[in-house]
This record gives sequence, structure tokens and C-alpha cells, in this order.
Amino acid sequence: MDKKLSLVVPVFNEQEVMPESFRRTRDAMETIGYPYEIIYIDDGSRDGTWDILCQIAAENPQVTALRFSRNFGHQPAVTAGMDAAEGDAVIIMDADLQDPPEVIADMVKAWEQGADIAYGKRLKRHGETVMKKLTAWCYYRLLSAMSAYPIPLDTGDFRLLDKAVADRFRELREHNRFLRGMSAWMGYNAVPVEYVRHERAAGKTKYSLKKMLKLAADGIFGFSSKPLSMITYVGAGVLVAALAGIVITTACAATVGAAGWLWGLWILAALDGMILLCMGVQGEYMQRIYDEVQGRPLYVVKERIN
Ligand code: UDP
Ligand code: MG
Repeated sequence: MDKKLSLVVPVFNEQEVMPESFRRTRDAMETIGYPYEIIYIDDGSRDGTWDILCQIAAENPQVTALRFSRNFGHQPAVTAGMDAAEGDAVIIMDADLQDPPEVIADMVKAWEQGADIAYGKRLKRHGETVMKKLTAWCYYRLLSAMSAYPIPLDTGDFRLLDKAVADRFRELREHNRFLRGMSAWMGYNAVPVEYVRHERAAGKTKYSLKKMLKLAADGIFGFSSKPLSMITYVGAGVLVAALAGIVITTACAATVGAAGWLWGLWILAALDGMILLCMGVQGEYMQRIYDEVQGRPLYVVKERIN
């Protein structure tokens, strides 16, 4: 079998973890038995990461290292690696060994059995703060409730994509990227591979709170227009309530009596409802512009006969 695997690993200030990360990754890849390449993308590291990558690449011809001119972020780094990957399957993995390289063998097995996408599903998360686990738990559930496409719960970017899927992926050039959402958007035959997410082997998280919030927002706004429809619903609700208020107040005024300022209140509320409704309508146009600007293909053809 001369199919080739491409492993894409984004790295940002990971000098503490790189040597061990490479050793374990190489051992795991050797065990699988396919020819392989490892593509490291240095996302503008400011520590000794690049020197370590240069040394690893010099000693291992199957390793390619790319260096960004500055920190562009994890998702662009993964994209650069996928653009450079030449394999029949592309695997995306973090450098910090939280995604155990040994799990790749299971993903490859799923791929051999016909999976187009094999995504890592976290059974447990070790060594992360209660806060991180709780926010992640809530976020994944919110995301899957909001998204128009089923985005699997408790999965990150750790996954294997068949070449056909990776090729389609390369055509998606949207700027606010959320890879696991894009992967779900594409459909195909996606199979979960369960694993236990471990502690970082060394160093601290490179995902600052700001980067994390940006990613979370990209997930929701890039794959759901529900926030917009919510504005419309709230506006319509407020308007209906205000109109009902006017009717009830008028009826009361004719019988038991009502304070005059109540009309003023309901009219203000009705205007607020109308403003919200108008914002919802504008949002619908913005959503359509956003769809056009994202430029995703209209459809993805998986197979064709004749
Ligand atoms: N990373 C990156 N650019 C960034 C932030 C992170 O390339 O701006 C890499 C990082 O080196 C690691 C992966 O993305 O290989 C995941 O980051 P990290 O482990 O810090 O995130 P966490 O697991 O804490 O969410
Ligand atoms: Mg990590």
C-alpha cells in the first residue's frame, strides 16, 4: 500500500513540548506503517520553537516546517498546513500532546473501513480547570442547538480527513474560520473515534481568553443565523404585547378607568418593538450578504457515476 498520510500540526511558542511531541508523534506514525509526512506550522513563535523545528526537519526528511511572519492564529495555521499537505489522508493534531498521537492509528483504521472523516471525540478531559470543562460543556451544547448543521458534541479539531474531503476543504477560503463547523458543513461519512484528552505535556495553553472567545463566536455566527431570527422574534413579541396593552388599557378606561400615562408607556414599547423588528429585517439582508461573501460552494458532490 503506498497511500500516504499527512499530519498537520500548528505550533505557537511550544519549545518545552516540541522535542517530546515529535518523538511520540514519529513513533506513533512509524507503528501505523504508511508512508507519512509531518507538516509543522510555526505560527509566529517568539521562543526557540523555530530552531527546534529546523533541527527536527534537518534530521528527518519526512518533516516539513513552515514559518508564519507573525502570529495569525491556530485556524489559519492549520489551513496553511492543509494547503501544503500532499497525502491521501490529512490528520490535524495539536502539538501539546493533549491529542494523543497514538489515537491516529484508530482514525486510520476508521478511514480504511470507509470513513471520509474520522473525528476525535473526547470521552474525558484530564488536567483542565473545572471552569474550562464547564464552559466547554455549555458551549458545545449551545453550538449544536444553534447550528443549522449537526456539529458533533465534545469534539475539537483533532481529526482525519480523506483526500477528497481535504480537497473540498481547501476551496473554503472564509476568513473567520471554524474548522470543526466547516467539517460538519461538508457532510460526508463522519465517524467518531473516542479518546481521553490528556493534560498538556508541558507549557501553558496558547489559547488566550480573547482567542478562545473569538473562536467561540466564529463557531456560532459562522454556522447559525439564529441570533438574527431571535432579534426578529423579540421585536415581534414586544410589538404584540404593546398593542395588546393599548387595547386592554382602552377597554379599562371605558369601564373601571386607567391612568393616562399607560398609553404613553405602550406607545413607547410599540416603537421599541418596531425598531427591533427593523433590526431583524436588516439582519436578514446582512445574513445574505455574509453568505455571499463567505463564498462557500453551493453544494458538495461526493460521487458521480458516468
Ligand atoms: N496554536 C497556534 N496558534 C495560536 C494558538 C495556539 O498555532 O495562536 C497551537 C498550539 O501550539 C497548539 C494548538 O494550537 O499546538 C492548540 O493550542 P493550545 O493547546 O494552547 O489550546 P488548548 O488545548 O489549551 O485549547
Ligand atoms: Mg492544548
